[in-house]
Amino acid sequence: MQTHLADSFRNTPDGDAAERILRSCVHCGFCLATCPTYQLLGDELDSPRGRIYLMKQVLEGATPTAKTQLHLDRCLTCRNCETTCPSGVEYGKLLDIGRHVVEEKVGRSVSETATRTALKAGLGTPLLFNTALKLGQSVRSLMPASLKTSIPAAEAAGDWPASRHTRRMLVLQGCVQPGLKPNINAATARVLDHIGISLITANEAGCCGALPHHLNDSDAGLAAARRNIDAWIPHLDAGMEAIVMTASGCGVMVKDYGWLLRNNSAYAEKAARISAAAKDISEVLITEREALSALAAHAAPKRIAYHPPCTLQHGQKLSGGVEALLTDAGFELTPVAEKHLCCGSAGTYSILQPALASQLKARKLGHLQAGRPELIATANIGCLAHLQSGSPIPVRHWVELLDTALSTS
Ligand code: SF4
Ligand code: SF4
Repeated sequence: MQTHLADSFRNTPDGDAAERILRSCVHCGFCLATCPTYQLLGDELDSPRGRIYLMKQVLEGATPTAKTQLHLDRCLTCRNCETTCPSGVEYGKLLDIGRHVVEEKVGRSVSETATRTALKAGLGTPLLFNTALKLGQSVRSLMPASLKTSIPAAEAAGDWPASRHTRRMLVLQGCVQPGLKPNINAATARVLDHIGISLITANEAGCCGALPHHLNDSDAGLAAARRNIDAWIPHLDAGMEAIVMTASGCGVMVKDYGWLLRNNSAYAEKAARISAAAKDISEVLITEREALSALAAHAAPKRIAYHPPCTLQHGQKLSGGVEALLTDAGFELTPVAEKHLCCGSAGTYSILQPALASQLKARKLGHLQAGRPELIATANIGCLAHLQSGSPIPVRHWVELLDTALSTS
């Protein structure tokens, strides 16, 4: 694609990156077939190719409007288009740049700004989120059924094994996950303990920064990244093998620290090191598959429908690992259609674009339930909470299922 960037973007780090990405798009339109918003709305401007055109126009000097912003807002950032694209267009990176530019030029209404500020503060601050969650859980039994589905019942974390192994890994605790589903990280610690790895937390680390980053507050996103890098580097120096991610949405963000801080001379090298050390729990466990298979119960298999989050299959390009580990452990995976499509959770998308998100959720749950599973499993807290709010059967993190299989063996 020919590009003629406006003077204000030419020869800037973002301008150079955007120009390289724009030039890699050959307009073939293959990506339209797998774009969820194009499938729902049928408008080229709600497709990857249409959004690429919009961003190109803005970067070449056209004035964006509220309509431009709407089409970019409606994108789920699922990156399904990247998986489909035969030319390797890095759509996600281009969208980050395009959204930021459009946000600066178009701005937001007072109510939109207030909603976004509340989401960043409420979801990105564990103390605030957990206090509000506990308050909601304490009055949950008094709520009407329609409200109950949005507030999950309180859950116990279960034991976290003491650090006793020479092999050690760090874990990113996350901001909403420890409050909503405290058992996920504890189950991860137990599974790793079974195979001789101790899982450690670094208390100085916090939110991965994905939340503000995807709400176009790149300063707050980068500040969170720098804080986590400062918290984790000393642990890597002390011999931690990896930084384990149990939420694929956080994993894809931490794996991008190197890219996001590439122009920061004080952090570029450290950020690249952290990104290289970040591993989804499925990546860690697939390399320990033999040891795990020997331990799993292989008794009374449960029928599971697995939903691979977009941040795992398209963002981190990791496919098949979870399915292999669950099958090894004796679970029966039911066939699920349209596995590549987003469930509509997409960070804060389900709150900011509720109509599209609920259509995608209903479609996804229909496919997940078609094989009559006993449980739905997934790998990201956002997908888990979103799907559970509409599912009559339990939705769990897959590592909790593996933990159960190991503890009953
Ligand atoms: S598939 Fe790739 S190259 Fe083709 S239009 Fe979409 S982004 Fe461009
Ligand atoms: S990221 Fe997802 S929603 Fe956005 S353009 Fe690509 S496929 Fe469509």
